[in-house]
Amino acid sequence: MCGIVGYIGKRNAYPILIKGLKRLEYRGYDSAGIALLNSKNELNVYKTKGKVSNLEHFAKDKDCNGTIGIAHTRWATHGEPNQINAHPHYSESKNIALIHNGIIENYADLKENLTRKGIHFQSNTDTEVIVQLIEYLLQKNDTDLLTAVQLALSHVVGAYAIAVIDRNNPDVIVAARKSSPLVVGIGDDEFFIASDASPIVEYTKKMVFIDNEEVAYIKRGEELKIVNLNNVEIKPEIEEVMLDIGQLEKGGYEHFMLKEIFEQPACIENCMKGRVNIAHDSIKLSALIDFHDKLVGAKRIIILACGTSWHSGMIGKYLFETYCKIPVEVEYASEFRYRSNVVGENDVVIAVSQSGETADTLAAVELAKEKGAFVYGICNSVGSSIPRATHTGSYIHVGPEIGVASTKAFSGQVTVLVMLALALAKSKNAISDKDYFEIIAELAKIPEKMKKVLQMNEKIADLAKIFTYAHNFIYLGRGYCFPVALEGALKLKEISYIHAEGYPAAEMKHGPIALIDDEMPVVVIATQNALYEKVVSNMQEVKARKGRIIALISEGDEKIKDIANFCIEVPQTLECLEPLITTIPLQLLAYHIAVCKGKNVDQPRNLAKSVTVE
Ligand code: GLU
Repeated sequence: MCGIVGYIGKRNAYPILIKGLKRLEYRGYDSAGIALLNSKNELNVYKTKGKVSNLEHFAKDKDCNGTIGIAHTRWATHGEPNQINAHPHYSESKNIALIHNGIIENYADLKENLTRKGIHFQSNTDTEVIVQLIEYLLQKNDTDLLTAVQLALSHVVGAYAIAVIDRNNPDVIVAARKSSPLVVGIGDDEFFIASDASPIVEYTKKMVFIDNEEVAYIKRGEELKIVNLNNVEIKPEIEEVMLDIGQLEKGGYEHFMLKEIFEQPACIENCMKGRVNIAHDSIKLSALIDFHDKLVGAKRIIILACGTSWHSGMIGKYLFETYCKIPVEVEYASEFRYRSNVVGENDVVIAVSQSGETADTLAAVELAKEKGAFVYGICNSVGSSIPRATHTGSYIHVGPEIGVASTKAFSGQVTVLVMLALALAKSKNAISDKDYFEIIAELAKIPEKMKKVLQMNEKIADLAKIFTYAHNFIYLGRGYCFPVALEGALKLKEISYIHAEGYPAAEMKHGPIALIDDEMPVVVIATQNALYEKVVSNMQEVKARKGRIIALISEGDEKIKDIANFCIEVPQTLECLEPLITTIPLQLLAYHIAVCKGKNVDQPRNLAKSVTVE
């Protein structure tokens, strides 16, 4: 959660920092702030509640000069989202300013100790203890800024990405991380820091991803220096990061979410590029080539994820069990990491995360590795923490996802899981040639079929208007479309704040059916697959109780038109690929309902894009 950005160089820092914050606003947006050190060596901190645009407004008539600065957009964990708790935080003397992404777990003890030493705190945040501790150690030990930061961080328990500037070191930014992401961009006589590459990429492609418990010492006119908390120097590994700026803009769409829904056909093509070879009817994943024996030898697969990624993991389970005949468990990473789980050398763990920074998934990955499991990552953000922590993996290559509610990343994750399941099944000789070739041929047709679904956009927008009254929704599906029902319900909850639950269609009888009356919208995924007749029966049960049925049906299905109140027709595909087709109308339905209700679709309340706190 939260975005941090910093600049040191020859240019005026303010416009770079504000633009950077806007790019990072998807990560958190309850308050924003900036600290600038000007040529008179004044350290100015401006902060406001709300969006970056509020900060811009507030700073309009202030002194915004300075070629060094740090800025923050917050997603509050400790202390209300108000101006005082917004970052940057000053030290007691106001000589030092600090921004922080993460949670300091032992902040209460640290705060008590510092208070006893006569230090006054201004905010209710956990963050403020770091800056106060740095200054206290700086003065007590009569040491330099870098050492004081290293010392302070060795007292801190929790997760952090921080950046610090100091009036007494006007040419320096010290930045460090543990668990929360941090990247340093290297320009010509200038440096940038940020939570991800998006605010930096328009200035430089050369970036260094800072590792856990590493501290970056960034001094004007010098090379970037990286040390660990014990001051052992680490050679910076400079990576070339390719990111298309156009992907960070809305490109004519009203919202990022809509743009990202519409990008899905192209995303899926990109995801399959170089991996699915239609001409030769084959699938190649480099991870499977490099780690063939480990993956083929898996006695069990454990998929670890949170939120939408957990839903794609469920689809993965159906795929691996059907085609690879390997038992699969799908776990919430947050549960897995804190229970006494049984995991070992014969297990392959697949960690799924859009951002690659999801704190619970990352911690679960470390735990699984410690216990000897082989870990495979499925992520979107290149160079993020999970791909770096796993033994191998596959990027989904769908481009930056800015809308907080995940859409194209879900499709990308499902596509990678399909490819992995097929390639693994083939290596294990567990799949028939007929199935293997048939699925590959159909996979290649998915982007075109997705485009057809997207043509339903206006019809779905009209449908949405009818349902803005609803306070509850039920989503039903079976087989591969059960996780789709869960995902459809989650999308609606996230952006429209309507309570929605997804169930396996048959499970409805075991309780949720009591909720159905003539006001209850029930979305049923009822495409023509092996479970079609079963779903039709479930739909009849809803109809008998006067529920208002919105059915997702296969093109040309006349039977369901007589049962459902509203139908959305989608092109038919193979059952295992249906989630790639049937999820899109549900994304659009959630999107249009939220727009009709006047909600902020791209930045829904209380949420943030990459959940870097547990
Ligand atoms: N825990 C800090 C706070 O509540 C930082 C939160 C964030 O990552 O935005 O201020």
